[in-house]
Amino acid sequence: MKVYYDKDANLDVLKDKKIAVLGYGSQGHAHANNLKDSGMNVVVGLRQGSNSIKKAQNAGLEVAEVAEAVGQADIVMVLLPDESQASAYDQEIKDNLKQGAALAFAHGLNIHFDYIKPREDIDVFMAAPKGPGHLVRSTYEGGGGVPCLVAVNQDSSGKALETAIAYASAVGGGRAGIIETTFKDETETDLFGEQAVLCGGTTALVQAGFETLVEAGYPPEMAYFECLHELKLIVDLMYEGGIANMRYSISNTAEFGDLTRGPRVVNEQTKAEMKKILSEIQSGQFAREFMEDNAQGGKVFPELRSRASGHQIEEVGAKLRGMMPWIDKGKIVDKSKN
Ligand code: NAD
Ligand code: MG
Ligand code: MG
Repeated sequence: MKVYYDKDANLDVLKDKKIAVLGYGSQGHAHANNLKDSGMNVVVGLRQGSNSIKKAQNAGLEVAEVAEAVGQADIVMVLLPDESQASAYDQEIKDNLKQGAALAFAHGLNIHFDYIKPREDIDVFMAAPKGPGHLVRSTYEGGGGVPCLVAVNQDSSGKALETAIAYASAVGGGRAGIIETTFKDETETDLFGEQAVLCGGTTALVQAGFETLVEAGYPPEMAYFECLHELKLIVDLMYEGGIANMRYSISNTAEFGDLTRGPRVVNEQTKAEMKKILSEIQSGQFAREFMEDNAQGGKVFPELRSRASGHQIEEVGAKLRGMMPWIDKGKIVDKSKN
């Protein structure tokens, strides 16, 4: 396993290049601003009438329509939603991309599962930060960086890996560590992580804990603090020094409960389900399910999203966070800017 740092990156390979960042969402705003602050020549590609145009311009970035940004660029980083990338590639990217340019991604799904079949004369690489876009930006601004994966799918120039490492370094990844991998491994591990642990696993755990307390008659406010708010404080300790560091800080009572009860909550059956989820990812079944729902205009997804946002935990949380103004002050997500 190779890990690269800033000292291994040759930023000169990007110096005379124009980089188009397509999209100005979670990842897009972070890449565009970090690249600019690292001294790169950036244009943000957006659709006419997009709400993000003002946000990008207010950040001092050059903005153009997608096809035009692609036509100007030596490197095109595709940070559109995964479900929109294939049609954008066919309609706005493929015929406008300069001969020998590089096409880049922050997630491998479309390339790995063949939704995009890239032109043969170009480089195709990945620079995928291992964290939410808003933290890719805020961590960089704070002088740190989010770890990044790089991979090469097509290397026509013979310099695709060097370019990928330089790109990852310019978005801040070289401060934390840049790992070289493949499109296959990034795609499969990323989807697994977000489904089983980071997003799916965690939110299901938090909600089930909250519901258990509320159904037993405890106040929802107490259940919120116990099962959601405090999670950050615990995870901060794990982030800083691993699980052992967290266990050093908690009481012996908590640690005994942790070690004896934790494996009953996430048990053999849970792990068997995780393996099933991983195999659905590997076979392409998950990607198909997601893409097909989108192609049909989004039947399942919007319904699930709206049901989830109506959960009692959101309502009680909004009320309680209103009493903790410091949370709002240092907010990572500011929808008027990012
Ligand atoms: P997003 O939904 O936050 O932002 C997408 C942006 O693209 C928005 O600015 C939107 O207005 C614009 N857009 C949508 N459709 C478009 C179109 N057809 N033409 C032009 N612009 C369009 O997306 P995101 O979550 O930042 O994801 C972008 C990529 O980054 C994906 O490949 C994703 O897997 C990857 N990624 C995301 C994260 C994350 O933190 N969200 C982390 C790692 C990798
Ligand atoms: Mg992902
Ligand atoms: Mg991820």
